[in-house]
Order: sequence, then C-alpha cells, then structure tokens
Amino acid sequence: MTDTINPTPSNFIRTIIDEDNATGKYAGRVQTRFPPEPNGYLHIGHAKSINLNYGLARDYNGQFNLRFDDTNPEKEEQEYIDAIMEDVRWLGADWDGRLFHASDYFEQLYAWAEQLITTGQAYVDDLSAEEIREHRGTLTEPGRNSPYRDRTIEENLDLFRRMRAGEFAEGSRVLRAKIDMASNFITLRDPVMYRILHAPHPRTGNAWHIYPTYDWAHGQSDSIEGITHSICTLEFENNRRLYDWFQEALGIRRTQQIEFARLNLTYTVMSKRKMIRLVHGGYVDGWDDPRFWTLRGLRRRGYTPEIIRAFTDGIGVSKANSTVDYHVLENAARDVLNLSTPRVMAVLEPLKVVIENYPKNKDEFFDVPYYKQDKTRTESRQLPFGREIYIERDDFMEVPAKGFNRLAPETEVRLMSAYYIACTGVVKDSVGRIVELRAVYDPATRGGTSTDGRKVKGTLHWVSAEHAIPAEVRLYDRLFKEEDPEKDVVDFIDNLNPDSLRVVDALVEPSLASAQPGDSFQFVRDGYFCVDPDTEGDRLVFNRTVSLRDSWAKGQ
Ligand code: ATP
Ligand code: MG
Repeated sequence: MTDTINPTPSNFIRTIIDEDNATGKYAGRVQTRFPPEPNGYLHIGHAKSINLNYGLARDYNGQFNLRFDDTNPEKEEQEYIDAIMEDVRWLGADWDGRLFHASDYFEQLYAWAEQLITTGQAYVDDLSAEEIREHRGTLTEPGRNSPYRDRTIEENLDLFRRMRAGEFAEGSRVLRAKIDMASNFITLRDPVMYRILHAPHPRTGNAWHIYPTYDWAHGQSDSIEGITHSICTLEFENNRRLYDWFQEALGIRRTQQIEFARLNLTYTVMSKRKMIRLVHGGYVDGWDDPRFWTLRGLRRRGYTPEIIRAFTDGIGVSKANSTVDYHVLENAARDVLNLSTPRVMAVLEPLKVVIENYPKNKDEFFDVPYYKQDKTRTESRQLPFGREIYIERDDFMEVPAKGFNRLAPETEVRLMSAYYIACTGVVKDSVGRIVELRAVYDPATRGGTSTDGRKVKGTLHWVSAEHAIPAEVRLYDRLFKEEDPEKDVVDFIDNLNPDSLRVVDALVEPSLASAQPGDSFQFVRDGYFCVDPDTEGDRLVFNRTVSLRDSWAKGQ
C-alpha cells in the first residue's frame, strides 16, 4: 500500500512509530483509528486527523479503523453516522471492513465497570452534577471527597445494577472512578464513568438506561481494537493520564496516546456546536453550502480528496497550536486544479462586441486544446467564432486608466486563440451605460498570432454570441469578515460577511453543455469552477472553487 508517487512528509509521530518498530514495541504492528462522535458533519479539521491516521496505516502496512464514539445518544443521529461514513470514504480512507462503534462494547465496558467496583476502584455517587462540580476543586485547590465515596462494594454493585435496570431517575446517581480528589490533574479527580439516561440509542435502542462517558469508553475501545498509536488532539493530553489509569487498573492491553495540534483555519469556526448553529440558524444553506468548510461544502465547491490531502500533508503535524491561513488551503486547490482541469472560456459579465468587417452568417471553428498546461494531453474542442461575440465587461474601458492593458477605443487586443480586434465604436443606452462595442478584426491574425510581429496590449477571453450557452455562476467570498470570527464581538454570528455570495448570469462556451455535476474546469483568467448539483436539464450552475490568484479574489 506504500504510496511511492507522493510520499507523505515525515513528522514527529512517524518518528515515534519508527522507534517503536525499531524496538519491537508492538512487533512492528501499526493500528490507527479515526474516532468521530456522530453529532455533526465532518469538517476540514477532521480531514487532517483522517488523513494522518489513514496515512500512517497505509505507509506502515498497518490497519486503519473507523470507530464511532457513540456514547451520547442525546446528541447523536443516524443522519450524522451515514454522512460521516460517506465523507470518510470520499476522502479515500478505506477502513476495509473494520467499522466499529463504542456501543459494540457497551456490555464489555459494563463488565469492566463492575470489575472496578469489585476491586474498590469505582463507586456510585448520589451527588448531583452541580454538587460534583463544586466538590471537584480548581486548578489551584484540591477537590473534596463525596460523602458517598466509601460505600461498600456490595452496596455499589447493587446500586450500579439497579442503575442499569432503569430503577433510578436521570441525574440521581452516577458511577465514578475512585482515584484521587487531590490530584494535580483534574481529570483524575474521580471522573464520572456512567450516567443515567433514559434515552434510546441509534444502535442499542432501549437496551440501556446508563451510558458510558467518553472518558470511560475511549481508551478501552482503543484497547479492545488493539490500537497501537491512539492519535488525538492536544486538549486530551491530561485525559491520557486517565486512559492509562483505566487500562492499568483493568489489566488490559495498553495503547499509546500521542497528541498533536488540531487544525485551526482563519475565517472558520471548527466547533461542531457553532457549525450546527450556522446550519440550523440558516446562516449557511445546509451542511453542503459551498462557503462551508465541511467536507460536503468543500466537495460541492470543487475541492477534491487530492486537494485536501495536498493541504493536510503540506501543513504537517505539530505539537504547538497555531492557525493556518485560509490561503494555504486555496493554494493547494490551485496547484491541483491547474494541472487537472481543462481550460475553457466563459464570460461572467458579458459585453457584446460586433465585428463589423467579419462576414455575416459565417461560422468558423478553431481547434483549441483543453490542456495547454499538460503537453502529454492532446484533447481539444472546436471552438466557434462569429461576427458577434461577448467579452468580459471589465475588459473594456472607454477612458483607460493608467496601466490598463485591455480593450479601449482605438486599441487592439488579441482574442484568445482567435484574431486580433481593434475597437472602433461604443454604443450606449439612454442612461449612458455601454451596451455594445463595435470592432474590426484582422484576418491575417487567425489563431491569435500576427504575421508582421506587431504586439497587442492584452489577450481577452470571449464566447461566440450565437453559440454561447447561459449559465448561473456563483462567486463566493469568505463566510466571515474577520480572520478570527470571534474577534471583537460577543457572538460570532455578528461577524458574518453579508456579501459572501454573488450570483451572475454568465455565458459559457458550448462545449460545456454536457458538463456534469462535479466536473471542474478552469475558466481562463477567471479561476476554477465546478458544476453544481443544482444543474438540471438546460440549467447549468457553476461554483467558483477559487480564483486563479490571491490578488484576484480581493478584487472580484
Ligand atoms: P467538538 O466540536 O465537539 O469538539 P470534535 O472536533 O472533538 O468535536 P470528534 O467527532 O470527537 O469531534 O472528532 C473526531 C476526531 O477528529 C478526534 O480524534 C479529534 O481529535 C479529531 N479532530 C477534530 N477536530 C479536529 C481539528 N480541528 N484538527 C484535527 N483533528 C481534529
Ligand atoms: Mg470530541
């Protein structure tokens, strides 16, 4: 499975694995997993974790598991489970039949909880959630023991079994590990292992009235699956001590947790709670809104698994939190799409040009290659030309500003792959708006090259008025106005960018009539565009994935 074309750059986690393999710690085995909680859709941060875990398994001839940490039935839904599987598959992380759920282990986890009660390492506590919080202490003050901490093993077992049987009200009791209320690590101050919830679970139905906490389920699930390198984000550094304590106390197979810095990206919020709010509040148009950094949104926008992998490999893995500039993601898209997409012509804001010396009713076709950037590809199409064409409205200036190198009265430009034209007249409507240009062409410049060596100011893209087809083109800006959406506001919603979507009626070359949702193109000079799933019948809809260059994004 080793990827020889594009080897993943090394990182500190690979160094740890190399050392483990050298010492024979896991007999050369590498077993990783991606453990989502099914309480939201996956985003670009999750992709970092998926690509990291999957990439390690792939490159070390190991195995990669997908495991749902489905311990909280109140927030979890089948919709999320299905979407997560689809998105992980889309990214190309193949779990090869090893799909697991923490809920698969509920019976085993319960048995282990009884084991800890029996060894005097767990107890049933009747304090309320509020009282438990009060007893927990702070970073500078130790916690206090619960008055229920010293119940007998028999009483604990009896109460715990009755909790499972559903005899008690929600919130009335919990099972806690008996560790150390004065520990320097708050995670070790008798953490909760089970809470009572009379809620049905997507997979276990009404079988359970108690559910394990994430902390109790996570490390044991890793152990059951034989995870060797349990990779998680930095916030879980202190939890590692607890996971180690549980595995040690139970005497079960040990796993090694390694923490790395989570991905933060400018102009985004990564917390699922906040992202759910953007969806439910209608601030984005669903989970697959092309402005969203969910995997669905990115996909609809035209991002591919290859782009996302180029991005996650490029930013690497580190131990220190930082925020990656959104441009880094966009540049990954440009690098990949530049090579892979056919180049076509589309005019986003059309201005008609009538070429007065071009024969009426003449049809002419230019054979234009699709992949000028790739000499190994020879596909081309027949691009129609005619007496009436459209150019981009802002490619003309009646009174050209300094440095303006495109069309103006009396100046000559090249129509890409076609002819040189010079502007001879400007037609305006009653309010003075330019509605049409008049021009002449030079038949000696067929194909866009002159025989006398004269230079032109610029090269414009165009479409033939008779042959072009209409398309709706959606141009996006950042969803938030601020790099840090939380900056200077109480509520991040206040930093939403009201102009994050602009829709234009464009005209595109006729070869695009057969484009299918998901297809990507470079519209020359305007960026990379992907066919939106709203495309149906004669209606063609494109999303701009990204402009050609950063500077263009600002101006358009
Ligand atoms: P929440 O928003 O509730 O904190 P979460 O991001 O922790 O959610 P999980 O479903 O628990 O969501 O995440 C699954 C895995 O993805 C975890 O192993 C987590 O470490 C990893 N992950 C989540 N967010 C990021 C991120 N921004 N960068 C890298 N990895 C991430
Ligand atoms: Mg989480």
